[in-house]
Amino acid sequence: MNKTEFTARLQRVRDQIHAACRKAGRSPDEVTLVAVSKTHSADTVLTAVSAGLQHFGENRVEEATGKIAQVRQLADRPVTWHMIGHVQSRKARDLPGWFALVHSIDTTRLADKLSRALAESGQTMDVLLEMNVSGEASKAGFAAHNWRSSETIRTQLAGALDAVARLPNIQVRGLMTMAPIAEDPETVRWVFADLRELRDWLARSTGIALPELSMGMTDDFPVAIEEGATLIRIGRALFGERGLQPGSDSEASR
Ligand SMILES: *Cc1c(COP(=O)(O)O)cnc(C)c1O
Repeated sequence: MNKTEFTARLQRVRDQIHAACRKAGRSPDEVTLVAVSKTHSADTVLTAVSAGLQHFGENRVEEATGKIAQVRQLADRPVTWHMIGHVQSRKARDLPGWFALVHSIDTTRLADKLSRALAESGQTMDVLLEMNVSGEASKAGFAAHNWRSSETIRTQLAGALDAVARLPNIQVRGLMTMAPIAEDPETVRWVFADLRELRDWLARSTGIALPELSMGMTDDFPVAIEEGATLIRIGRALFGERGLQPGSDSEASR
């Protein structure tokens, strides 16, 4: 994609961010646009950087680190990288040095491995806990469906948050979720509202501040912003439809 086309797409997304913020009485400064560059080349990232974007999200460690190394050599300004996809705990040691924020901490085991890897290399990292609010079996994340009605779930979630927050070299900054795929984003508004209310409850009951809410993708980000998103993860609206890459299954490239 050339820079002119990318700039036009970026402007459309920014207009939608502004409109959603206006509707919700929020400032656009409260919403960070994370451009999801998975399946796209380092060149495409550089085009986006030259158009003014700073934050990029990737969902696979190997793909990301190669791309990040290339972009670091060639970009004329700093780029901030976000890991947004499922990470196997044995891959935790590959994260330090590459990502500023991991959105997808979905087990305490992964957080523990990451903390150890960070301590070994003398680094720190911000993380979000991924919550499976929708209850879909296909989704990663801590089981959070029915948190309102289930004291067991609430106790488990508060315990997991507390355990991760105690780990050295890791700073928990908030929560992340993915809504089900839906034709009409209004039908998934409850998922975003639920994540915000779960955040409020967890922050109150643990005393741990959780300022960040990572929620909203191409098909539903205006609704997520209305419900309090501080990080939105946008792929297709910026870069176009992703073709199926060789060797990737549909879930990995979705
Ligand atoms: C791919 C992906 C996105 C971006 O999805 P689009 O629909 O292309 O905007 C956001 N979050 C996660 C976790 C993803 O894997």
